[in-house]
Amino acid sequence: MPLRNGCPFCGFPDKEVVFYEDSLCLGIVSKAPLNKYHGLIVPKEHYTDSQRVPDEILVHLYLVSKKVAQAIAKACNPDGITMVHDDGLNKTVEHFTIHIIPRFRGDKIGGFYLREEDPGLQARATYATRIRECLG
Ligand SMILES: [Zn+2]
Repeated sequence: MPLRNGCPFCGFPDKEVVFYEDSLCLGIVSKAPLNKYHGLIVPKEHYTDSQRVPDEILVHLYLVSKKVAQAIAKACNPDGITMVHDDGLNKTVEHFTIHIIPRFRGDKIGGFYLREEDPGLQARATYATRIRECLG
């Protein structure tokens, strides 16, 4: 695969950190991990965010992620696993990536779950109405 606009995941070179590969995606160990065994599932094609990933490929990536999460759980016996992807904000690489992050009690990722106060039923109902409108 050719390196596309300097993207580190197009033509990924570090084969020794690849733990999974098929015709559509790679599984690699993160270079910027939130915990040990932090895995990434990246499509071989360059997509910037989930809305641009064709449905059948997105489903495949999440099915692979499910299988990999089971393997990571077996590999490091975590207390839990967080599986996420970011579109827009928080991205450090403009290549769609699913993160599979083993979680351990007392780890430093807790801030990820800092929540806002409950906005109240009325505000939540307003958000629900707006999302329904946007769903069409
Ligand atoms: Zn790329």
